[in-house]
Amino acid sequence: MTAIGKVVKIQKFSVNDGNGIRTTVFLEGCPLKCRWCSNPDSWSGIVKLGVSKERCINCKKCISLCHKNITSLFNRDEVNNKCDLCGECIKYCPQSAISQMTHIMTSDEVIKSIEKDFIFFLNSNGGITFSGGEPTYQLEFLRELVYHFYKKGINTAIETCGVFNFEKCKDVFEKLDHIFVDIKNMNSNRHKEYTGFGNELILENIEKMANLNKSIVIRIPVIPGFNDDIENITSTAQFVRQNLKKPKIELLPYHMLGIDKYKNLGLDDYIYKYEVPSNEVMKELEDIVKSCDVEVLKYK
Ligand code: SF4
Ligand code: SF4
Repeated sequence: MTAIGKVVKIQKFSVNDGNGIRTTVFLEGCPLKCRWCSNPDSWSGIVKLGVSKERCINCKKCISLCHKNITSLFNRDEVNNKCDLCGECIKYCPQSAISQMTHIMTSDEVIKSIEKDFIFFLNSNGGITFSGGEPTYQLEFLRELVYHFYKKGINTAIETCGVFNFEKCKDVFEKLDHIFVDIKNMNSNRHKEYTGFGNELILENIEKMANLNKSIVIRIPVIPGFNDDIENITSTAQFVRQNLKKPKIELLPYHMLGIDKYKNLGLDDYIYKYEVPSNEVMKELEDIVKSCDVEVLKYK
């Protein structure tokens, strides 16, 4: 095992990302930039040093210690250009205001940190979920991990945005047990406007994944004003019914839990806010999905 990857975090005892108790591995990198993304720390191209403006008392200890002569941790361009994540400022900040939001790890290190969770997986029919970002963005790293856990007989799932080269990833998907894939909008222009990418490849990949005979759940992040209209939910459910042998949809209501991450990463310009959909709206959307003969799943 030699692959080296960028891991945002390894979350233990997760119960929202598939069956049973799961360990979720969040990998860095994603081809999309969704306007509601709650994990901007998984975006590529930014150094993952988070600084809390609320905690910082401007003592300047961090910059006095910085061997790269960074003059302000709030200057995102400067941090991106110079920081090598040596960790000195994190260690000595008196306010614990600085955090490293990506970790360079070997596949061995990831495996070691998960091995102790096997007992929980066995007792709960749980397993490991690869998330992100888009896990296929670091394909070699993902491949090593998935193959390893497959050989160990551990249940594995992936949360994917659906944007990947299917032929290159096919062997990895064949080793997984569950696939969660988003359909964010059936209108490609709207999809592109809000995520930076059209939906054609995603829909094509769902059709190809359907032939792998895996358990597939389509996820819809419900974003008011973007995709919560009857027409979109109906055409998504119809597509799912037509293409999956066991059609299942999970509706995930928009939430604002990622907003602090944007602030800490200096990504304030990328913050978009939406209304959180009410229980009544979610129920109406569930009923639409069910009326199309598609099962509604809930893990939360
Ligand atoms: S060391 Fe911590 S508290 Fe002091 S200026 Fe840096 S981030 Fe702020
Ligand atoms: S992690 Fe190291 S290089 Fe980066 S800002 Fe802190 S002290 Fe400087």
